[in-house]
Amino acid sequence: MRIANLSGRLVLIVAGKAVDVERAAQGRFAADPQAVYDRWAEFTAWAATATDLPEGVDFDPRDLGSPVPAPRQVLAVGLNYGDHAKESGFAVPDTLPPVFPKYASAITGPVTEVALPAGGHTDWEVELVVAIGSRAYRAEPSWEHVAGLTVGQDLSERITQLAGPAPQFGLGKSFPGFAPVGPWLVTPDEFDDPDDLELGCSINGEEMQKGRTRDLIFSVPALIAKLSAVLPLLPGDLIFTGTPAGVGLGRTPQRWLAPGDELVSYVEGIGELRQTCTGGN
Ligand code: ZN
Repeated sequence: MRIANLSGRLVLIVAGKAVDVERAAQGRFAADPQAVYDRWAEFTAWAATATDLPEGVDFDPRDLGSPVPAPRQVLAVGLNYGDHAKESGFAVPDTLPPVFPKYASAITGPVTEVALPAGGHTDWEVELVVAIGSRAYRAEPSWEHVAGLTVGQDLSERITQLAGPAPQFGLGKSFPGFAPVGPWLVTPDEFDDPDDLELGCSINGEEMQKGRTRDLIFSVPALIAKLSAVLPLLPGDLIFTGTPAGVGLGRTPQRWLAPGDELVSYVEGIGELRQTCTGGN
């Protein structure tokens, strides 16, 4: 199953078209895309058996919002691919990766313009993003609590991120528009192997990152266990799972996003994000 946020309303994506959930379910589920995660089991049971769905409508991807627009928590994981830890100059984490927040005001849909902070060094990080479908606290490693998977960009302004006596990842990664998510949420059953998906990104058609999620140091089930060992993961939370090698910070010479750049990010079996950079924010 694929669900999306079309102009602020929850839709099912069926054969590339959008079916409005509130109307199809005759009011049983709210139009608010965020509300569905609190009733995820009930919703998936309905969707699995819903017959005579109304005909879907064509849509413009620019009208999609994030399939998870207002999570209570957004946890982002650093250094979760060995090649990226190496290019960043850090040891590979063994018991617990670094974890930081991306603040929810940075979340946008999949096709956006991003204003680059003036004087900043804005970098790209394509990531597999997990949406939580049921409360997980001290959970075993498993896919049980995962509602679905989507694509995210963990855009990062490196000067802010690394300023101060201790790095403050959350602020540098939470400028407006720095958390594009989408284009839709895909349930784990849609994948042959949800633990092995290609992901990557390009700038103006030039490949910057290309990796596979089988190379995650902490897999999705492992992250559910590690994070929920400390705090409860709540329905509708997001986890940015980390980025493979190829970010601008790790290049020689270093490279940053510039006004006019088009950043396209993808995860196999899900879809793509498209960010156009503008200057002067
Ligand atoms: Zn990241």
